[in-house]
Amino acid sequence: MHITFCGAAKTVTGSCHLIETAGLRILLDCGLFQGGRELAERNRSGFPFDPRQIDYVLLSHAHLDHAGMLPKLVRDGFSGKIVCTPPTADIAKLMLADSASLQVEDAAYRARKAKRRGEKAEPALYDMADVLRCAERFRPVSAYGEARALNDHVTCLFHDAGHILGSAFIELRTPDGTLVFSGDLGNRHQPIVCDPGTPPAADVMLVESTYGNRCHRSIEDTEAEFREAVETIVGQGGNLLIPSFSLERAQEVLFELYHLWKRGELPRCRIFLDSPLAISTTRVFERFPEYFDEEGRAAFIGEPNPFDFAPLRFTQTTDESKEINKKSDGNIIIAGSGMCTGGRIIHHLRHNLWKKDSGILFVGYQADGTLGRRIVDGADRVRIFGEEISVAARVWTVNGFSSHADQPILLDWIKQATPKHLFLVHGEEKTLDAFAGEIRKRLSLDPHIPDWKETVELS
Ligand code: ZN
Repeated sequence: MHITFCGAAKTVTGSCHLIETAGLRILLDCGLFQGGRELAERNRSGFPFDPRQIDYVLLSHAHLDHAGMLPKLVRDGFSGKIVCTPPTADIAKLMLADSASLQVEDAAYRARKAKRRGEKAEPALYDMADVLRCAERFRPVSAYGEARALNDHVTCLFHDAGHILGSAFIELRTPDGTLVFSGDLGNRHQPIVCDPGTPPAADVMLVESTYGNRCHRSIEDTEAEFREAVETIVGQGGNLLIPSFSLERAQEVLFELYHLWKRGELPRCRIFLDSPLAISTTRVFERFPEYFDEEGRAAFIGEPNPFDFAPLRFTQTTDESKEINKKSDGNIIIAGSGMCTGGRIIHHLRHNLWKKDSGILFVGYQADGTLGRRIVDGADRVRIFGEEISVAARVWTVNGFSSHADQPILLDWIKQATPKHLFLVHGEEKTLDAFAGEIRKRLSLDPHIPDWKETVELS
């Protein structure tokens, strides 16, 4: 067996690993590099393999850093099959369509600028036509645990990773031994999704390390902080903005609000899910309640359910979105982007940041250099659409909603599989080193941290 680490090697994005075994060339994920120009350049530099020779892509889940290069793979000649779970197939198509429109928009902007310089800009990485051709290549398994034969010698199984809806860790049974790829592994006690499943005994393991060096706060503390922010702001008639990713976090926030409402702890208010992508994703969630955990299924069976309770409104169009700020205050507004780098949340921030009665509740990681991070770090003023806005609103950061396993969960998970060969991927270098040290100390295993494009041969 040969493994080439084509992405998420000493980085957290661009997840893509090429496995060559028993006459097959298999990609585990085909993700977009994100965050900064240098990483984004890798998306353009071409794949370190010939896409025409890839037989299968086994897709762990629908996040763009795992799926976002699939249309480019098809554009460059891939004609094999993409295997994943049914929710992943449906959500990935939405995410890829959204990504294609952003790519095309961005390319048009760059083309206008380049034209003024008398130069030509690079075309979009891919467009909607590529996404449609890519969509035809999906061959989902019917459920977790189904053994899908890839040829006479190799079989793959998708197991619940508990990270987002439909997410999987992948078991690949080959004549060279069993390989387990974690994809992104989930946190325990997360709303909606189940806890990560138990891995089988493995010869080779590729494990994500995003939070390999830290421990999360408990979900109880997190829910208490969430409730306090809602009570403080909305209870006093202010607007509470929740910048959120469209996939999983937005639906988890709806679940939390639904539970407050059900227990009579939600002050009188209207809740706006103000993101077309989050609305479409929520509709996919509604089709797959069998993938929810027990608590999620129970909530969903009831009437009304967490995606359809009295205070909740879905605002699809731009006009509906603009109307929100014309109405009286006392609203909860969930909008993207999650780090306030674009999207409808920017308009809501412009309308609310300067009001001392308003609140901003951050429920996800805010990367360096983003508007979200500047607000979290306590900026007095920020620039929005070229206008200086003072920050008078109260700011909460609730960190415990992570959909990634922390160090204790990851260590436990690796221990159950006791692999002969362990590779740590999907982490920042500092985190990977710390996590590797902990594994050597606690599990007596000797993990390898591969470089980008490194190939290893295992026999
Ligand atoms: Zn993910």
